[in-house]
Parts: sequence; structure tokens; C-alpha cells
Amino acid sequence: MSDTLTDIADAAEALCDARQHAEPRYEWDANRNKKPIAPHRTIVPGLIQQLRDLAEEGSASGDETGVRSVPDSRPPGEFDAVALIAAVTFGAAWRAGQLGLQPRDTAEANIRAIVGAASSIDSDTQRDIRHELTSWRRQADVILGWEQPPIELVAPCPIVDTDGAGTPCGARGSLLAQRDGTGARCVKCGAAWDERDVALLFEHVKRYTEASKAAAEKARRVVREQKAEQRRLLEEAKKRRAEAA
Ligand SMILES: [Zn+2]
Repeated sequence: MSDTLTDIADAAEALCDARQHAEPRYEWDANRNKKPIAPHRTIVPGLIQQLRDLAEEGSASGDETGVRSVPDSRPPGEFDAVALIAAVTFGAAWRAGQLGLQPRDTAEANIRAIVGAASSIDSDTQRDIRHELTSWRRQADVILGWEQPPIELVAPCPIVDTDGAGTPCGARGSLLAQRDGTGARCVKCGAAWDERDVALLFEHVKRYTEASKAAAEKARRVVREQKAEQRRLLEEAKKRRAEAA
């Protein structure tokens, strides 16, 4: 099985299938040492079903007229959940149609059908499917709180050639890094850094930040010097007026 197919199967399983979730638990012994005990195990539904549950939590708490009296009490991820369910439902049905598969009733059924067909299609399409499924999974993980959102790196994307013709990316606000520092990606040009080369990107960000700090410091110095010069000229003019009087 290729890496792509493994990734497709993993993402599909996370999106569609219930799994056991082990919440770590600890107890403190007589010497106040924290020690792990058997984790609390629960069965959680697949991510798509969790998104539906989150979306319904909000709509179910409205009054009988369907008008919510306390709009602020909605969980923050609810609107994102509704949007992502729509994207996944449409995207999975569209992809199934592209592959010539019989359309199914649910996003999960379409995704399972896509996984079933994935091994016998061309590698470009496999990579597209992997991108779709892993992107849905990542977004769901963030919306549902399983994963912290990535951190935005304050530097333009350093990719100098996005299309083989020397077109640089240089996008700003597009670099997102995983919180554990194991990877990053540019949401504009799609470049990705993993454990092997992410240090290079962090080095670029560091240099950019230091250069910006130096540039800001230089700008402040110029402004300070200009102000000092203005004060000097003002003093001189005052002195001349005093002498003339
Ligand atoms: Zn980029």
C-alpha cells in the first residue's frame, strides 16, 4: 500500500468511524507524586458525526419560535461546523461522481465508496483525494477542539519558484506552523515543510523578524534625529529673533 493510500484510509477512518478515546487520568500518592492510572475510555463517533452533533447543539437550544433569545450562548465552533459539514457533504458527493461511483445518502457512505475505489485510480487523483480528506480531517479536529489551531508565522512565504517558471510566492500571513514545531505550510502556494526541513523555515522567519526589528529601529532613529534637528533650527531662529529685537 502506498503512503497516499494509507493517508486516505487513515483520514477516512477518522472522518467516518467511531473510535475509542482514552482520556488520561492521574492520581497523587502519599508523597504527592502524580502517577498515571487507567485512562477513562469512551467511544466517540467519527468526526463528521461529531460536527453534526455540534451543529445540532446550537439549533436545539432555540425556543419554539426558532428565534434564539441568547445568541451569544452558541458554542463558537457551531457555525464553522455547519460550513464544514456542507463542504464535506458536497465535496464527497462531487468526488464520488467524478470517479463514476453511485451516489450515496451520506457523506460517510460517499467517502467509504471513494476509499474503496482509490487503489485503482491514477496517482494524481489519489493525491487530490488525500488532500481533500486530510484537509477536512484537520479542519474538523480544530473546530471540535481535538487539535489546537496552527500558529501564523510573521514573515512572507520564502518560496522563490511556485511554478517552475520562477514565480515567487512571497505571500504574507499565509505561513501556518503546527504548535509542536514539527511542520508548517503556506496556505497560498501550498508549500509544506516537515520535520526534516522546518528548521530552515523557522530560520527564515527569525531572520525576517530580526531584519524588521532592525529596520524599525533605524526608522525610529531617523525620526529622532529629524526631531532633534527641527528643535535645533527652532532654537536658532528664536535666538536670532531675540538678537534682532
Ligand atoms: Zn507560499
